Amino acid sequence: MEKKDLKSMMYEEVLEEMKEIGEKPFRGKQIYEWLHEKLAASFDEMSNISKNLKEKLKISYQCEALIPVKVLTSEMDGTQKYLFQLTDGNVIESVLMHYKHGNSVCISSQVGCRMGCRFCASTIGGLTRNLQVSEMLDQIYQIQRMTGERVSNVVVMGTGEPLDNYDNIVRFIHMLTDEHGLHISQRNITVSTCGIVPKMYELAKENFQITLALSLHGSNQEKREALMPIAKKYGLEEVMEACRNYFKTTGRRITFEYSLVGGVNDTQEDAKELCELIKGLNCHINLIPVNPIKERNFRQSQKKVILNFKNKLEKCGINVTIRREMGRDIGGACGQLRKSYMDRAEGEEA
Ligand code: SAH
Repeated sequence: MEKKDLKSMMYEEVLEEMKEIGEKPFRGKQIYEWLHEKLAASFDEMSNISKNLKEKLKISYQCEALIPVKVLTSEMDGTQKYLFQLTDGNVIESVLMHYKHGNSVCISSQVGCRMGCRFCASTIGGLTRNLQVSEMLDQIYQIQRMTGERVSNVVVMGTGEPLDNYDNIVRFIHMLTDEHGLHISQRNITVSTCGIVPKMYELAKENFQITLALSLHGSNQEKREALMPIAKKYGLEEVMEACRNYFKTTGRRITFEYSLVGGVNDTQEDAKELCELIKGLNCHINLIPVNPIKERNFRQSQKKVILNFKNKLEKCGINVTIRREMGRDIGGACGQLRKSYMDRAEGEEA
């Protein structure tokens, strides 16, 4: 019999589960808090649970922790990249960034990705599988456990398309913000999407106070399509309408991510068109100087070009930041560490 994934169960479900196996509901509360507040990595760590019950739990449930196989620390800014191994042997990566306002963890939502964005390393091998809720939570739990520092912000911007793993992402947000767990504020959670329109509408209806970030990368349909295959399925008009709807329904300002690619989408014309596109929408733009990956020959825009682009947007009254390149010295862009690890593993096997 396959063991049930206890760490993916919500608070009420754990209480119900304990009832079903003949235990008192308060045991459910204790176990949930061990897993999600005290961040226990095994049943054996649950010191106020009897040996008998522990043995009983081990037969039907699993609560294994992710195993860190590699940790890289940036000498420039202390950013840390973690490579974790899952129970089936797959590996994923997560990043810890230190900001003035607290510690932020960037998590992966899938093993690989099927969206095919041209400049992204995560998508090169395609999608292997969705991550379980427990595997998304545990990236944060293990980092907090290892560093002993509280994680206050979470961004779902690592490998994978979160809205392609929709049900698990929704459950993940509920559990991450649960008062019996880490109790992270919804306002401190950002979910980034390449623009899966029907799921953006669904997310707006969940009644969350999280931030939705849309990967835009092009200011017209043609340019966006050239960088992001998903844009062929969900056109720019539709995506912008879904963003307006998200703001109208939730009152939360949209973040647009715009990766600047040298000579592709970084001209003053592009900036002007971008201003027109988002005019009247309460939003924020995050400019990301593209992080070149060896499999593609995209290059970064020159510093001067990036600043001119930013200035142009600011002149239109738009809130803009240039993403600080955290951990540049430890394999910048999302998916690069995992990719280089897998390339090496393949090389060794050959
Ligand atoms: N699937 C989600 C989250 C993935 S990555 C999404 O598409 O939004 C988070 C952001 O990093 C996205 O905006 C993505 O397009 C961008 N990105 C990925 N690889 C990059 C690279 N090499 N350089 C710059 N930005 C990159």
